[in-house]
Amino acid sequence: MKQPGSKPTYTWWILALTGFLVAAVVYGVQRGGVPTRNSPFSEQRAADDLRTLVGLGPRPAASEAIAKARSYIVAELEKAGLKPQLDEFEAHTPRGLRKMVNIRAVRRGSKPALIALTGHYDTKIFDFSFVGANDGGSSAAWLLEMARSTASLRLENTLEFVFFDGEEAVLEWTDQDSVYGSRYDVDRRYRGGVLRDLKALILVDMIGDKDLNIKKETQSTTWLKNILWNTSQSLGYTKEFPNDDQEISDDHVPYLRAGIPAVDLIDFDYPYWHTAADTLDKTSGRSLKTVGDVVYFSLPEIDRRVSQAK
Ligand SMILES: [Zn+2]
Repeated sequence: MKQPGSKPTYTWWILALTGFLVAAVVYGVQRGGVPTRNSPFSEQRAADDLRTLVGLGPRPAASEAIAKARSYIVAELEKAGLKPQLDEFEAHTPRGLRKMVNIRAVRRGSKPALIALTGHYDTKIFDFSFVGANDGGSSAAWLLEMARSTASLRLENTLEFVFFDGEEAVLEWTDQDSVYGSRYDVDRRYRGGVLRDLKALILVDMIGDKDLNIKKETQSTTWLKNILWNTSQSLGYTKEFPNDDQEISDDHVPYLRAGIPAVDLIDFDYPYWHTAADTLDKTSGRSLKTVGDVVYFSLPEIDRRVSQAK
C-alpha cells in the first residue's frame, strides 16, 4: 500500500509533540509562579530527631525515658550553640506529686522582649505502649530543628524555645490534670516579675501527621493567626492551613489567661490520636518542615509587631 496518509501522520505527530511541549512549558511557568521560599529548617534533621525520641519508647512525665529524651534535647540545643536551662518543679497530680522539668533556651536579639516557640515533649501514660510519634514527639523534634535553623535569622527581639513537660493528663483531662509545664511556666515568670517580657507565644502540637491539616484555633490571638495564615497562603500551603476554625485546649491557654498573645498550631484531625498506632510511620518530616517554613517566614513580621507594640 502506498501511504498517502504518511505525510499528514508526520504532521500530526509534530503538532502533538509541539502541543505537549507548549503544555509542559505553561505548566512549568505556572508551577514557577507559586512562591517556593525555602527556610533553613531541615526536613531530614527533624525526622532524625523524631526517630531518636520515638526510639526511647513511651515518655511520660517522671519516667526514665523522658529523662533520656531530656538529655538528648539538652545535648542537641548545646550543639546548636544555645545554653539550655532546666526548670524543675513538683506537680500535684491525681496520682500524687510528680517531678517534672521544662527545658528552655534563648537566642538573644538586641531587645530583651521575648517571642517564645513552644511545644510539649512528654507522652501520655497508658496501660498500652504509647510512643506518641505525633503527640509529644513531633513538637519536640520540631522545636529542636527550629532552634538550629534560626541561627542566622536576625530578629530585634529575643527568641525563646520552651519544651513543656506534663502537657498530658495523668488520668483524664481537666483544668487541674493537664498542661502542668505551661501552668508552671506562667507562674514562674509571674513570680519572677518577667511575665510581661513575653510578648508572643507560638505553640505547636501534633504537627507531624503525613496528612497535615492545621485549623485556626479559636481561642488563639487573632493578630498571630493572621500573620501565620498569611504566610502559609503565600507559601502555597492552603491545604495544610485551611481557613477553618476549631477550639482546642492546650499549653497556650495558661498564657492566654495571663494576657499573653498566644497561638496553637495543632492538627487535631489525626485518627491515631491517643492510640497505640501513633507511630513513626504516620508522620512525615515534610509536615514538620511545612510548619517550620511557615513559622520561620512569619517571625520577622511577628518581631516587627512586637517591637512596634512597645
Ligand atoms: Zn495527647
